[in-house]
Amino acid sequence: MKGKPVERTENCRVCNERTGEVIAEVDYWNIKTTRLVKCPKCNHIQLDPMLSDSESAKGCYAYYLEEALRTTPKEQMSNCLRNFRRGVVFGYSLKRKKISPRSVLEVGPGLGYFSVGLKFVFPDADIAVMDINAELASFNEDHHNYRSIHGVPDIFMPEFKGTFDLVIARDVIEHVNEISAVIENINRYLTPGGYFHFITPNGREDAWRSYLTSLFTNSSSELLINHVNYYDGKGLGKLLFQKGFIPVDYYTYKIKTTLSGLGWKKHKRLMSPVSVRKDADLLIRENAMEVSCAGLVKEKILNKWYIRDRAKWITAAYSLYQHFNMIRINPGLNIGHEFYGLFQKSPYISH
Ligand SMILES: [Zn+2]
Repeated sequence: MKGKPVERTENCRVCNERTGEVIAEVDYWNIKTTRLVKCPKCNHIQLDPMLSDSESAKGCYAYYLEEALRTTPKEQMSNCLRNFRRGVVFGYSLKRKKISPRSVLEVGPGLGYFSVGLKFVFPDADIAVMDINAELASFNEDHHNYRSIHGVPDIFMPEFKGTFDLVIARDVIEHVNEISAVIENINRYLTPGGYFHFITPNGREDAWRSYLTSLFTNSSSELLINHVNYYDGKGLGKLLFQKGFIPVDYYTYKIKTTLSGLGWKKHKRLMSPVSVRKDADLLIRENAMEVSCAGLVKEKILNKWYIRDRAKWITAAYSLYQHFNMIRINPGLNIGHEFYGLFQKSPYISH
């Protein structure tokens, strides 16, 4: 992915480099027209100029509504169930490593079912969740009895320093404005030797569609999935290491998208749609009262033949069968759809 050298409005948020290459023009709803700028040193791609906190809060809320509106109740239930199974798989992968978390923070939990799966494996674990969206935070509290924190991971909350032995952030770090601050804060929320688990898209594949739109049409594309960071496998690993984390598991997986050409094939069918500057305020005005997850019934969602409290091995086996990643690729190659990370807070470096 080659771009034109450009004067950037701020340094790389991963390695602090001053030079950059513009690889695409993008619109964040009708809120802001901005660019994807790639760092020639660490290959991180970020929005430049970056969003302000209020812009990103508005865009996030619009995205939350849009997604909720296009998901049927039936799809919503099967998404919950899928996340439950992923939580079970993750829980057992910790168990095999002799890791038993007691105090867990999940950042950006969605409807909270990944942690339900984790708690199925570790019934004594205390779960807290943090979300930028107050509605989702209180849903998690009412629906699961989790402790809920209304906030963003970029802003440090001193009351949680050294509190958790596991922090989870699945599909979160591509959305945050200040990645370095987020990783530092997570490190400080952890107990010494605690663990950080995340998944995030492979940035090269994720930015590829917008890159092609710029290349072929010279127009802005829509940034409707709200990703403001596009990570390079090596650069992200290095940043985590600098902030006091040691890799336990770090790999990419799911190569279907790579095989389709994302990240390497210059073909028009892979382009992002040209931007229509979708109106975020209008969407929020028209739909804010419509969306509700109040209809979800936990017992109904988890009422499956393979979910049994007295025979957890059946649940584990079925979940593994559905979600185990057979192919694990070195993240430095930037092949595959997503990065999977389990990192340990170094007991030697403190922040
Ligand atoms: Zn950089």
